Amino acid sequence: MIVFNLTCGNDHSFEGWFASSAEFERQQHATQLNCPMCGDSTVSKGMNAPYVNIGSAQQAADNAALTSKAAAAQYINIGAEVTRMIEHLIANTDDVGNDFPEEARKIHYQEAPERKIRGSASRDEVEELRDEGIEVVAVPVPRHLLDKPH
Ligand SMILES: [Zn+2]
Repeated sequence: MIVFNLTCGNDHSFEGWFASSAEFERQQHATQLNCPMCGDSTVSKGMNAPYVNIGSAQQAADNAALTSKAAAAQYINIGAEVTRMIEHLIANTDDVGNDFPEEARKIHYQEAPERKIRGSASRDEVEELRDEGIEVVAVPVPRHLLDKPH
């Protein structure tokens, strides 16, 4: 596929995707090309050089790299705050360990007093809980909190 920057007789610019350069020319001569804004069929290639979508794939890869860099930076920036938040959660929740799914259910169905709990659950168990409408979130527990004896 090739992308051309196109302009119409009324100076609108837009992108057109074509199987090949020849296909663009064929459609242009057959006046099968219309401006998406005004419908004008006097469409010509814009000033910019055409580019193939290999280029945009590369650009997408660059964007992805930028995004992951940004995400990493963001994680570092909010790390201390998240750690404080998790410490707060841990200080204000009952540790029910492996009984977490069962306890979460009991609380949800009001078979146990309303309270905030934490514990472990498998991915399947978490999915089951969510299917039942029970809100649970995974928190990354900082290592120093895991190592701390209770
Ligand atoms: Zn136009």
